[in-house]
Amino acid sequence: MVGQQALTELAKRRGFFFGANEAYGGTAGFYTFGPEGAALKRNVESAWRERFTLRLGNEEIEAPTVMPEPVFEASGHLDGFDDMLIECAECGESHRADHLIEDAVADIEDAEALGVDRVEELIREHDLACPTCGAALSGEPVEDFNLMFETSIGPGSGQPGYLRPETAQGIFVEFPRLKEYARGQLPFGVTQIGPAYRNEISPRRGIIRVREFTQAELEQFIDPEEDEPPLEDVADVEVTLYPASEQNADDGDYIQTTIGEAIDEEIIGSPWVAYFLGVAQGWYERVGVDMDRFRFRQHLAGERAHYAADCWDAESEVGGNWIEIAGFAYRGDYDLRKHGEHSEDRFTVFKRYDEPKTVERATVNPDMSALGPEFGGAAGDVADALQELAESDPDAFDSNEVTVDVDGESYTIDTDVANFSVEEQTENGEHITPHVVEPSFGVGRTVYTLLDHAYSEDTVDDETRTYLSLAPEIAPTDVAVFPLVGDDDLVTTADDVADELRAAGLSVSYDDSGSIGRRYRRQDEIGTPFCVTVDHEGLEGDSEPTVTLRERDSASQLRISVADLAAELEAVLAGDGTFADLQDRYERVDTDVTTA
Ligand code: AMP
Repeated sequence: MVGQQALTELAKRRGFFFGANEAYGGTAGFYTFGPEGAALKRNVESAWRERFTLRLGNEEIEAPTVMPEPVFEASGHLDGFDDMLIECAECGESHRADHLIEDAVADIEDAEALGVDRVEELIREHDLACPTCGAALSGEPVEDFNLMFETSIGPGSGQPGYLRPETAQGIFVEFPRLKEYARGQLPFGVTQIGPAYRNEISPRRGIIRVREFTQAELEQFIDPEEDEPPLEDVADVEVTLYPASEQNADDGDYIQTTIGEAIDEEIIGSPWVAYFLGVAQGWYERVGVDMDRFRFRQHLAGERAHYAADCWDAESEVGGNWIEIAGFAYRGDYDLRKHGEHSEDRFTVFKRYDEPKTVERATVNPDMSALGPEFGGAAGDVADALQELAESDPDAFDSNEVTVDVDGESYTIDTDVANFSVEEQTENGEHITPHVVEPSFGVGRTVYTLLDHAYSEDTVDDETRTYLSLAPEIAPTDVAVFPLVGDDDLVTTADDVADELRAAGLSVSYDDSGSIGRRYRRQDEIGTPFCVTVDHEGLEGDSEPTVTLRERDSASQLRISVADLAAELEAVLAGDGTFADLQDRYERVDTDVTTA
């Protein structure tokens, strides 16, 4: 297992990620992905796009990262997207009050669920001290701190806006248009990969808790009464589950099961959530997560976000701790209903019945020539209120007079003027608010997990070697090309080989500096699956030129003709065959490997 410090050092040394703005003293919670990290992150995003957008037949959008205030009034983030803040009076440092409790009190795992007052009491009862300066925190107020970054749109006082705290809202807000592209047909899914911003109280642990991070989210819109996921595709997928009941039990344990059984035994309530857990399990395995250090954990009741009916997290174990790397939430109709209530648009789809239905509909047809003179400007609102009353309480029209409230004022009307009637109507369908199931992945945390799980050490040529055993699909570079020494003919051929591999679509790094051993170690540390070395032996005589091809994890080599190289590498990188297959077909080369 690699510690966080060793991994962070490697990440910085080799250009995976490092604290941003260091020239200006750094900014806590912001990281820059260097050349290797940016390439790795892009590859993770491409693999996610391939699985969750293309293979599932979904559509991807790119919405703005700044959104106006009413969006977050509707979504509930303005009121409910808070963490508990406590400030040290001595040193001024801010801390997550709930985390202080969780770290200090053995049997409390989810202090957020206890509420601000109880957390304040617990800090007093346990006499907790500031982790930074050691001063007593007892008696300091605990406050709800909203995590959204506020900004102002336009000059002057402008319009209040916020950096989106999740990419999801960009999808929900555009639903009225997106449903048109889906031709109004449920189910359909929309994805988005992009930055999200949270003004975390205490960003920590490298890129694990940061203030700007990339999310890859899928919003699956469904008709809860009709739509079922293709469970047969994932029924046999084996998963490690940690349901709330097991977390609450004294001797609680993981449940090793399949997605199919987890549904049958009602361990996972929603078939859609179960489906996405199955798809995610396969995807994490494909990109290189160590599945022995991976689990799905159900949220405890008090832990769920304000919108979630049921929620499971994908968690990975890194540096001895479990971290959430994705959330799978059944959000119900919460989001679309709220945006429908707060905006002018329709966040529903029209669901056509198999057969038209005849229904009785209570309706009014108010005599406006009577309402107008009597109520003036309020007449239109009174007419609307009458229609609402007819639908909600038709019996109210049984007497001679009927009373409605408009903006807190009562208006009494002769029932004759309202023209109440019950009519038979033929209806072809109804407007329904779709439910939403959301798999939400943190890209940075996935990148961190892949680096942690790929980190390996062994002994080569009596030296300890560090290498990243990254999946070829994810590794920043496919292949590195080296001339063994700086002779002109070797350099020219190595240049040509590198060009040819680039032309074949591979990502290639060329390196001619330092000893060959050093160059191999450099590539090992950034996880490059293959290295090609052009040596004198390969250019001798009249036969076809050859090069050595070295595989990262085994550090073993073979000799292959330049003419075959691109096609063979392409095949192995695409998963059509392995390096071991090539070893059967090409001459092996003795190496310095003393790998365990
Ligand atoms: P949430 O909406 O809180 O369920 O977040 C969805 C995913 O985004 C999580 O599973 C994380 O992988 C990621 N995430 C959330 N907050 C942060 C953060 N502060 N830093 C990095 N990743 C985060």
